[in-house]
This record gives sequence, structure tokens and C-alpha cells, in this order.
Amino acid sequence: MSKKNEFIQSVKGTRDLLPAETPLWQRVEDEARKVFAAYNFREIRTPVLEQTSLFARSVGSDTDIVTKEMYTFDDRDSGSLTLRPEATASVVRAYIEHSLYNEPGIQKLYYFGPMFRRERPQKGRYRQFYQIGAEVLGSDHPAIDAEVLEMLVLLLERLGLKEFRLLVNSVGCPKCRPEYLKVLRKALDEAKARLCEDCQRRVTTNPLRVLDCKNEADQAVIEGLPKIIDHLCSECRQHFDSVTMDLKQRGVAFEIVPRLVRGLDYYTRTTFEITSGLLGAQNALLGGGRYDGLSEMLGGPPAPGFGFAIGQDRLVLTVEASAASRPAGPLAVYVAWMGETTREAATLLARELRRAGIGTEISYHPVKLKKAMGAASKLEVRYTLIIGEEEVASGNYQVKDMGTGEQQSVSAGDVVAFLKQKLREGLQAESQLLEQK
Ligand code: AMP
Repeated sequence: MSKKNEFIQSVKGTRDLLPAETPLWQRVEDEARKVFAAYNFREIRTPVLEQTSLFARSVGSDTDIVTKEMYTFDDRDSGSLTLRPEATASVVRAYIEHSLYNEPGIQKLYYFGPMFRRERPQKGRYRQFYQIGAEVLGSDHPAIDAEVLEMLVLLLERLGLKEFRLLVNSVGCPKCRPEYLKVLRKALDEAKARLCEDCQRRVTTNPLRVLDCKNEADQAVIEGLPKIIDHLCSECRQHFDSVTMDLKQRGVAFEIVPRLVRGLDYYTRTTFEITSGLLGAQNALLGGGRYDGLSEMLGGPPAPGFGFAIGQDRLVLTVEASAASRPAGPLAVYVAWMGETTREAATLLARELRRAGIGTEISYHPVKLKKAMGAASKLEVRYTLIIGEEEVASGNYQVKDMGTGEQQSVSAGDVVAFLKQKLREGLQAESQLLEQK
């Protein structure tokens, strides 16, 4: 319990995104919305709270997420609830709950939002982090896998990223995976002594997860293990070959990485990850894959699916590191009013400017001219509107161009149109300058 008056800090692994950072977050979101819309994806918003069993059943009861990382509590009357550690299970739950499978065609859905995992915090790894994700439900066509990967690469390119690698693999299906698991178990039994403690346990509980191990000392053993890609059934092989051929036709560069099995139980066939060298230790920028049996696992009808989740925190870090970010546009106008009798005219004018979409700040109390100019320079506005008693009486306001220092008198009724025109001219001049560079 904290003592009275003692400062209460934010929770470990969570963070505040301050105004200096949020423009970049907004830019990433705007770009994602544009790209998703161009590929006919529509937004879905699901709750942050879900029944614990939703994740136990889909993500898998032997995964790190479910065994160690979930924020779970007993609600008074709703049983065990969990703060979502990921959103695919939630989207598929919503798809089933609202019978979206009855709507014509396939469903292409995207989401933004916070996820919660009780991991050890470090740069690029938080306990509350943000994902931008998308899911395609209702078809297992390989062109979906290729199209979504093409879309992701386009998004990253539009954000100015160049240094990233798309890694792909196939984890087979319930038909061929058991056969592969037998071969893998046999190889693991022989290599067990050379593996870390966690992996020794995984050999019996979930051998596939050994391939996922990040432990440096285990890597040589993992390299030598049989590859799932060599043990696919003919349908899975065909699916994988179609995806890779389609990616080549679309000009999407990729690498096949046989050990990429990903940490969640629901994946079938295609799995993938995009990594960035700019991220350091936590280099996975995004990941995803196909999950053809998930809807049935959750009590729904057959509905093959394919999706991904981008770590937004890491995407923002990467965009920052690649210096591809653009600063937010400066505030355009400061309205300075002098004397109580001018307050009403100034307030109404600020409202008109804002309604016209012009970024405006106004003082909350009367100011003296010198102070007003100081405030305007601090705000870095382009124009200051000076409204004193004389101006209100004459119906002409003083407009000061903060760049040139020039001041001119504009009639009250024309001020909005005048500033709109000036700001438009300013923008044109700026873009011409950029083109000339
Ligand atoms: P996953 O849902 O585990 O496939 O993760 C998808 C993406 O989310 C990863 O590639 C990361 O970019 C991001 N991510 C996962 N866990 C965290 C975390 N604890 N903190 C920040 N980003 C994360």
C-alpha cells in the first residue's frame, strides 16, 4: 500500500507515450489504415478482456504465453478473465459469435490495440505493448498468404523501411505434423543431453517448440534436427510451393527458414516473420501465419484463416531508427486578445478557425502585446492574430506573419479566408522547395 502523498509510478513494463512521440504512432496507424483499405480490409474492435479459456484453448496450454505470461484474475461473477495477450483468438471468437461466416465472401479484418504479456521488460519488450494486426477468414487459398505478405511489405516500404527480412516456413497440418513429430522426437531423444533445461522438458511436452529456442548454446543442435519442410504431406507441400511461387511473381523477396515454427499452437501450414536489424536483440518486427483449424478449436464452423500481428512499439522504433519520420505540421495560428471586452470576439474567431481546420491556440486570459509575442514564438505558429479593443471597435484585426514580421490589417469577416489562402500558399512553396532539393 502506498503512503499518503507518496508519488505513484506507472506499472513496470508499461509506459506513457508522450506528445513528442505520438505523431509517429499516428503516422504509422494512418499509413496502415490506408494500405489495409487498399486491400479491402475493414476494422474490427474487440474487448481487451476475454474469458481465460479462449487463450488456453487457442494459443495453447503449454505455451509460454499461457503458462507464464497472462494477466489473469477471477472476476466476481464471470469466472476467470484475462487481459488479451494477442488478438487473433478474439477476432475468431467475434467472427463465430456474430456469424460473420454467413456474410458473402471472405472476411478481411484488421485491428489496432494494446496486448498484455508478463514478460521481462527490455528495449522493444513491454508488458503492455501494441499490435497492428489483420486476419483473413473463410478461405485456405495460397494466394491469400501471398497477397497479405505483399501488403505487409508495401506498408513497411511506405513507412520508409528498407532493412528487413521476410522469413517463411510451413508447419504442416494435423495430417502430416504427427509423422514429423515422431521423427523429431527420435532425433531429440538422442540430442537431449546437449539441450538447455527448458528444451529437455519440451522434448516430452511440445517438441516443436525446441526449434523456437533462443538459447545460444542450443543453436548448433537445432540446426542439425530434421526439418518439417521435408516431411510435409502432398497438400501442404503444394500449398507451400504455390505461396512461394506467387511471392516470386509478385516480386516479394523472402527466405525459407525451416526452424520458424512460432510460439503458438494454432498455426498450420504457412508461418512467417519479418525481422529488422535495426531492432537489436528483440528483432522480430511482426509475425503470423495460417490457422486453418482455429475456428473449429473455438467451437465454430470450419473457417480457414491467415493473419499477422505487427509489434507497433517495435515498428515505431524501426521507423525512428531509419530516420524516415517526418515531424508533425506546426500549429498555424495564435489568437491573442487584450482586454476583457475582446474576449467574446476572440473566442468566436478561434472557433471559426478551428472549424475551418486551421490549427489554432488562444490565450485563456487577456495578454499584453509583448507577452503575446513571446507565447506565439514559443508555440512556433505561422501567424498571430492581435485583437485589442481598437480592433474590435473598427472590425479590422491585425494579422502578424511570424516568419517575416510583417503585420497587416484584415477585416474580421475575411480573416478565416485570408489565413486559409496564406497557409495554402505556404504549403505550396514548401513542397516546391522539397522538390528542388
Ligand atoms: P506474436 O503475437 O508473439 O506473434 O508477436 C507478434 C509481434 O508482436 C512480434 O513480432 C513483436 O513485434 C510484437 N511483440 C510481441 N511481444 C511483445 C512484447 N512483449 N513487447 C513488445 N512487442 C511485442
